[in-house]
Amino acid sequence: MCPPESPPGPRSPAPPSPATLPDLGELYQELILDHYRRPRNKGKLEQPTHGAALNNPLCGDEVDLELRVQNDVITDVRFVGRGCSISQAAASMMTQVIKDRPLTEALSLAGRMSAMMHGDEAAARDKSLGDLRALVGVARFPVRVKCALLPWNALQDALKSSGTASR
Ligand code: ZN
Repeated sequence: MCPPESPPGPRSPAPPSPATLPDLGELYQELILDHYRRPRNKGKLEQPTHGAALNNPLCGDEVDLELRVQNDVITDVRFVGRGCSISQAAASMMTQVIKDRPLTEALSLAGRMSAMMHGDEAAARDKSLGDLRALVGVARFPVRVKCALLPWNALQDALKSSGTASR
């Protein structure tokens, strides 16, 4: 499990308190919790062309990603998943920045995100990462880096899958 969070469930009706997150700065915590509580692009896609499901056994996080790719552009994306707030917020944030992007750009964003999570300060200033920059502080918590990168690893796996895409 991922300390110091407890999983959401019927026994814990209260939303997770910001205090349960690593110290990422107040503004960033708000943004992360906002995505966690109100995930963007959550659900299943009709007729996805690519998909991948990954989990992070260290933490119990799961992300199942579906993409629709047309003419090498990600025209739609959805995810379902569960797990810690960082993994789920990262998935939500990722779907926002990769939607309507060419595949090459989405993959280069995956590289930027990975660089940021491994301490690259230039990557952390890259505005094209959007809300994902709120996760920069996670780089200080190596155990949580896997949470933040889980959806991106799913993206890379999904794009490697041939799917049913007609290209
Ligand atoms: Zn996690």
